[in-house]
Amino acid sequence: MINVTKSYLPDLDEYTNYLKGIWERVHLTNDGPLLRQLENEMKAVLGVKHLKFCSNGTVVLQMALKALDITKEVITTPFSYVATTNVLLWEGCTPVFADITPDDFCIDPAKIEPLITENTQAILATHVYGNACQIEQIQAIADKHNLKVIYDAAHTFGASYNGQSILSYGDISTCSFHATKVFHTVEGGCIITNDDELAQKLHFYRSFGHRNDDYFSVGINAKNSEFHAAMGLCVLPKVPDLIAARKQVFGYYDDRLDFSRISRPTLLPGVEYNYAYYPVVFDSEETLLRVVEALKAQEIMPRRYFYPSLNTLPFAQIPGSGQSCPISEDVSLRVLALPMYPDLAEADVDRIASIVNKAVALVDAA
Ligand SMILES: *Cc1c(COP(=O)(O)O)cnc(C)c1O
Repeated sequence: MINVTKSYLPDLDEYTNYLKGIWERVHLTNDGPLLRQLENEMKAVLGVKHLKFCSNGTVVLQMALKALDITKEVITTPFSYVATTNVLLWEGCTPVFADITPDDFCIDPAKIEPLITENTQAILATHVYGNACQIEQIQAIADKHNLKVIYDAAHTFGASYNGQSILSYGDISTCSFHATKVFHTVEGGCIITNDDELAQKLHFYRSFGHRNDDYFSVGINAKNSEFHAAMGLCVLPKVPDLIAARKQVFGYYDDRLDFSRISRPTLLPGVEYNYAYYPVVFDSEETLLRVVEALKAQEIMPRRYFYPSLNTLPFAQIPGSGQSCPISEDVSLRVLALPMYPDLAEADVDRIASIVNKAVALVDAA
């Protein structure tokens, strides 16, 4: 079976070497030495000032909203993983959906400004598939209206914009290190800011709000363990090679798919891409379903990602958030992530591409 993704696992001996250290120290979690080492190495790799390694890529979004005191309306994208909308609803904020651009499926800055009201406090945007949003335009709108900018940058590890990690933009940027991402720690995530005061808050939030024997504020448990940090320390040095291998797989698809019938999202100029996903867009949902069926018949598992458009979720229908987002609703019906991971064989891509091309042509003929 070929799945849409496959996690990279490091050499087992390398991992068990870290485990030996954990057994010697008997320090299993709570801001341990491996976690601190991983944070320092990530800060150096990404060129960012403050980075807190946390338990996943969802809780860090919740921490971002808390740290910036966001409780009211947040202008957000309908084209993301459900976590992006969930955190707003979970924290009692109102998600106000601004439609995406038809080219790269990131939030359309032109759709943001008309949605701003006196209750708008922030913009929460997703850098879709590892590409960057229109960062300057979004920042200009935020500056003009005194809004905070939070980026769900779960897809962007290893990708840069104008020579800087995409994770370095916004008031706060978050990443996921879930097993399916370009860089992973099995489960994990991080929160990044250049602001000293915010970083201090986030440090205390991560561990129940504890400040020594006292409490800094309300907090949550967003800590991560030495075992997860050890995985990160094994995988981090491999990221450049993993991205290079992904780039090669990407090229195999590019060479074989029939782009007279299929399209792909564009990249923002200035982005150095991490090849996180290989999404393709068909002419209709009917074609997509035909392709999915043909692939699954050969035990190849693509993924409808992102689907559905988050503004259509029944639990997101709350007063003030009911905008229609025709582009996102349309794209989410027609976009499919094809299998993409570093050691996906050229022969397998060959097979996948020919199944896709044939299924698409069949729809055309019908
Ligand atoms: C993976 C992902 C998340 C959630 O990350 P977890 O680490 O699984 O909690 C959030 N947003 C986006 C865009 C993602 O892809």
